[in-house]
Amino acid sequence: MVNALNTRLESARTPRELFEAVEPKRAMVITAHPDDCEFMCGGTVAVLTSMGWHVDIVVATSGNKGTKDPKMTSQRLAGIREEEQREAARRLGAAEPVFLGFHDGGVPDNDELRALLVYQMRLRRPELVITWDGFRPGFNHRDHRNVGRSTYDAIYPAADDHLYLTEHKDEGLEPHRPVILLLGGQANVGDPDFHVDIQPVIRKKVRAILAHTSQIRGRTEAEMLKTQREQAEARRQAGVEAPLYRESFRRVLLRR
Ligand SMILES: [Zn+2]
Repeated sequence: MVNALNTRLESARTPRELFEAVEPKRAMVITAHPDDCEFMCGGTVAVLTSMGWHVDIVVATSGNKGTKDPKMTSQRLAGIREEEQREAARRLGAAEPVFLGFHDGGVPDNDELRALLVYQMRLRRPELVITWDGFRPGFNHRDHRNVGRSTYDAIYPAADDHLYLTEHKDEGLEPHRPVILLLGGQANVGDPDFHVDIQPVIRKKVRAILAHTSQIRGRTEAEMLKTQREQAEARRQAGVEAPLYRESFRRVLLRR
């Protein structure tokens, strides 16, 4: 049964075929900051929810830094950004987001974060996990790098091995291993091999990004749609194969 699933996943020719093949349809997006999910994979989340997937969003920080307003406090900013992330999740059809409470700029790559991610995976049992590619070359935010690497390490070997974090057993949580990992943040760098067609949901993605009012500096839906159109047109002129409206990842299939 399990091997049959792996065979079906390996023979899927498109992301949509892969998403159709997976059961149960449970995904988890693990990011560093409120708004990462929408920029990196908001279109993919919208595609998944339109196909009946349940999508959890786990955010390591509450985005409590990064403002030009001298009167803003970290605590107030965190509250605003959590609420923006909740609204973005609603617009994408995802579940209520989970915040792990690390400080913006202070996401560690350590046992504490890994343990929290293992807990979330054993509790919510995603078959598909999307996170930042912590290994891609080029300049990258430390929080993105660390959340990506910690997610990778939480999936393998920790979450699926009952001798890691044995205290979870006391809560009735069983080991778990997702079957697919998608590593995002590949635009212009990295070596993506998995391109999700987001054209049918492009407006949904833009509206989810726009839920992050404190971050978008007055940009409008029309402006953002225009940017997306220009990027698609540039790809077409460069002879890039469809999909032209895309989110790109490196795909890892996890055997079990
Ligand atoms: Zn970020």
